[in-house]
Amino acid sequence: MTSVKAISSDEVFKTWLKDANLKTLEKFFKKKKVDFKREHVSLAETVQDVSKFIIVYFEKNVQAAAASGKQSGGTQQITAEALEKMRFYNFGSKKVNLATWKGEKQVPMYNTLKEIKCPTCNGAGGIKCKSCGGIGTLKCTKCEKGKGKLNCKTCNNSKTEDYKVEVVDAEGKKTTEIKKIRCADCHGAGVYTCPDCGGLLKIPCKTCSASGTSPCDKCKGTGVLYEYAIMPVPGVTQKKSGDIFYTKDVEKFIDKKSVEDMLNSKDIKGIVITNPDDLTEKRLKPELNYWTKDSKKVCDDAKQEYKDDVKKGIVREKAQIMVFPALQLNCTSVSGNKFEIFGIGVSENFAVMDSKFN
Ligand SMILES: [Zn+2]
Ligand SMILES: [Zn+2]
Ligand SMILES: [Zn+2]
Ligand SMILES: [Zn+2]
Repeated sequence: MTSVKAISSDEVFKTWLKDANLKTLEKFFKKKKVDFKREHVSLAETVQDVSKFIIVYFEKNVQAAAASGKQSGGTQQITAEALEKMRFYNFGSKKVNLATWKGEKQVPMYNTLKEIKCPTCNGAGGIKCKSCGGIGTLKCTKCEKGKGKLNCKTCNNSKTEDYKVEVVDAEGKKTTEIKKIRCADCHGAGVYTCPDCGGLLKIPCKTCSASGTSPCDKCKGTGVLYEYAIMPVPGVTQKKSGDIFYTKDVEKFIDKKSVEDMLNSKDIKGIVITNPDDLTEKRLKPELNYWTKDSKKVCDDAKQEYKDDVKKGIVREKAQIMVFPALQLNCTSVSGNKFEIFGIGVSENFAVMDSKFN
């Protein structure tokens, strides 16, 4: 086993200086009465300390991770009326770019939409009217005792009315004669047919419009409900995504996302292994030519995560694990500003990052 060609501090510093922002350099390094030039910045005057660390990285299968969340949104049942107010999604066999997807992560899927029989009315749509008990008519309360007839109020059931007739005799004395004449309102019947029920003793039920049924509350009368599933948006992330591990001390300066993006964009080479149990001093030190106390912790964390992810199906078995040697240059500028420069990778194939240089 040959060891990897380590990067030197000099190499890292030169590469960093070449691309460092000139304005910031001037702010950090300009000496009084001297015109500033990039070349004035020297490693010897700037770098206070150099330390080594390692970065462990392996790729995750993001699509598998998204798929493992299937069905997590559950199902919903709604009425036909509510259906109109919904927005469904239909992706077909296509996937969306999750990085730019603006919508919810889980959405109602159109292809899961199905009609089901309303369990409350068993599909009938209507239930027995509570007012009339399903008969459609109610007993007439106006004529209930009169059996379809009401007593005539004009003749008070007497069938006739008294008409007074004035009669004068020979001496000129006036008397009043009473003539009983058939009641004009009931035509001498003394009663009349109930105007509410027409003598039938029943009136139509207003609640159900005489149908005997009222609409089922659950399905609003349609007899059906609609059921659909809320599912994760099928997506792809265009960027590679993985898990990255390095010393907590370094995390204070450079975040994992930036390191990962950097490694992916530059295709930095590292030590490649496919067995997480090879994340050991015994396997890695001969190639790295160094080993620190933190390296063991970083390897143990990475090993555990890798094994867990394989179990979950997020990481493919025997997926490559990359171990990158890395350098941290602890710097102080002429103006007294402290900042860090990081070199990640091997000689002639490495990435440079800085922190607090702004
Ligand atoms: Zn119903
Ligand atoms: Zn009714
Ligand atoms: Zn009458
Ligand atoms: Zn009546």
